[in-house]
Amino acid sequence: MLPSEIRIDPLTGKMVIVAGARGKRPHGMIKRKGKRKHQPISQCPFENPQKSGNPEPLFIVERKPGEWSVQVIPNKYPALTPVKLIKKRRWLYEVQSAGGYCEVVITRDHRKFLAELDVEVTEEFLLAIRERYRKLKEKDGVRYIFPFVNYGPRAGASLTHPHGQIIALNFTPPRTKEIMRGARRLWLKNKKCFYCDYIRWEKKQKKRIIRENKEFIALCPFVSTNPYEIEIFPKYHSADFSQISDKSLVLLAKLLRDALKRLYIELNDPDYNLFLYSSFLKKQRKFFHWQIHIIPATEAIAGFELSSGMEVCGLRPAEAAQRLRKVL
Ligand SMILES: [Zn+2]
Ligand SMILES: [Zn+2]
Repeated sequence: MLPSEIRIDPLTGKMVIVAGARGKRPHGMIKRKGKRKHQPISQCPFENPQKSGNPEPLFIVERKPGEWSVQVIPNKYPALTPVKLIKKRRWLYEVQSAGGYCEVVITRDHRKFLAELDVEVTEEFLLAIRERYRKLKEKDGVRYIFPFVNYGPRAGASLTHPHGQIIALNFTPPRTKEIMRGARRLWLKNKKCFYCDYIRWEKKQKKRIIRENKEFIALCPFVSTNPYEIEIFPKYHSADFSQISDKSLVLLAKLLRDALKRLYIELNDPDYNLFLYSSFLKKQRKFFHWQIHIIPATEAIAGFELSSGMEVCGLRPAEAAQRLRKVL
């Protein structure tokens, strides 16, 4: 049996303990149990968003007139609203206005999400995100945009009707700042993009790649914080997701849906968080490389993680990738 090891992310310094060969828990404990529970359609505000008191969609995909398959609306309960950035002090505390835009990306089916539907839905979902990203980055004061999905209650979703969210902020959140700083430092040191290099290394290693196509690659990252964590990268260098072409979007949708389907089968339709890291700022164009992360809710954060600031990944990424390759 291989011993456990500590892996350190060169970008952020994040330390993860990766469990030994057999993993710390049997496979059955990582899998989601039972059938997914859905809220009743009659009480679902996303069946007909406009009838439920939402304004006209900010973006809509209709396959036939009047039959939408994806639509974007402003979040009815936004965590942030558009305000100017104001900084002030209260005693020793620095306080600033939290400004931004919160939007919801809704797919039509009440129960099924990307892994269970035809690939066109994933395409339309990504198209909606690209279009809104393009609009939001032009808004005054917007510094960072993050699209994400909370799928299932363990991933923080309050409504069971599948949906994604886009939040545009008038400030850069700390995790993003940390990653950007790391990527810049490594770019200055090595004179090349860390991520382009990382993809080359993974291709040589041939251990953690799940699948790739002409333009994109899906893998279980070397420093995974959770079993079955997946990252998807474009194989060409690009910092800004919203510059993706229609043709590339189709290829990305194929790979993303494939990855989600593999997780769906392997872990019995797991809850997960999916997020997109992208930067539209000119100064970050050289060293940042956009990417999608998928983190299945396979492990609860426990006392060790909270107190040590270290994550424990109960399954080696190479082992997870191998299982995901085999499942389809
Ligand atoms: Zn619904
Ligand atoms: Zn790159």
